[in-house]
Amino acid sequence: PMASSPAKVEFRELGNTGLKLSCVGFGASPFGNVFGQVSDDDAIASVREAFRLGINYFDTSPYYGGTLSEKVLGKALKAVGVPRHEYIVSTKCGRYIDGFDFSADRVTRSIDESLARLQLDYVDILQCHDIEFGSLDEIVNETIPALQKLKEAGKIRFLGITGLPLEIFTYVLDRVPPGTVDVILSYCHYGINDSTLEDLLPYLKSKGVGIITASPLAMGLLTESGPPSWHPASPELKSACQAAAAYCKEKGKNISKLAMQYSLSNKDISSVLVGMNSVRQVEENVAAALDLETAGKDEETLSELEAILKPVKNQTWPSGIQQR
Ligand code: NAD
Repeated sequence: PMASSPAKVEFRELGNTGLKLSCVGFGASPFGNVFGQVSDDDAIASVREAFRLGINYFDTSPYYGGTLSEKVLGKALKAVGVPRHEYIVSTKCGRYIDGFDFSADRVTRSIDESLARLQLDYVDILQCHDIEFGSLDEIVNETIPALQKLKEAGKIRFLGITGLPLEIFTYVLDRVPPGTVDVILSYCHYGINDSTLEDLLPYLKSKGVGIITASPLAMGLLTESGPPSWHPASPELKSACQAAAAYCKEKGKNISKLAMQYSLSNKDISSVLVGMNSVRQVEENVAAALDLETAGKDEETLSELEAILKPVKNQTWPSGIQQR
């Protein structure tokens, strides 16, 4: 008597965690209104549609919208009512709307605050958020040991680190015992305009860490409507991406679909977190993943885009405090 179920996105193993993540991950930063206002109804409908299409992984942070994203995600997960063991939630610690604090004391309080906002008993993954803004030695010697205690207490299942500069990952992973850091989250480095994470993948795999990437649309650069005003890219990078989007549109293609498929095509990456705030975006991003499985990448358009973006290839922006 049930309606036939829709095709669902593929699952991929996350490092040595035993977790199986949907290859399309739900980035909930838009629920903090960082890309424009999102109503609770739209948030709930997007999460419901995500589950329907097989998405089982949701990412947030106390930083996004100054705790709003966590609250709205918690409300949506509760409203949809999927059993807790059927989905995976990651949140973060150490970055807040009023600044950074990676001390053991702060991150230990932080998880309790996050769990209350999310209305959950545990999160699957807790990540130190944008560690290039803290002391990497403090992350190694104080923050990560504090997170290990949270693991023992059952408040988190796995721990990770996130940030923009790729060197932060090698700095930390070279200084902690193997198996301590379960997962890394890298953003804006595995997409059409910047693919610098690729060179680091063999190292990360050798360390046994799970690999999640975020911002396949380069935080709005690779969309028809363009990035938000706070976007840190140079004017040159913004206009090159705008030209690439316009080229796609003229050709009857969607740049966001091409960008999603580019990020999804490397199976060493367990999940690609894309920020979503509507049922339509969920459907489009899942369709991009399903089309990739059946038809492969649109190599012709991709190489045209790579030509347009060549002058800004792998251009990034400064992030964090200088350490050394
Ligand atoms: P993104 O590249 O995923 O772009 C998001 C923007 O694209 C939003 O405006 C969204 O509404 C829009 N969008 C989504 N699907 C679309 C579609 N099909 N067509 C047109 N527009 C579409 O950038 P992001 O949201 O910053 O990154 C994704 C997620 O990754 C975040 O929500 C967050 O959970 C995570 N993230 C983490 C870090 C970190 O830990 N330091 C950094 C960046 C992102």
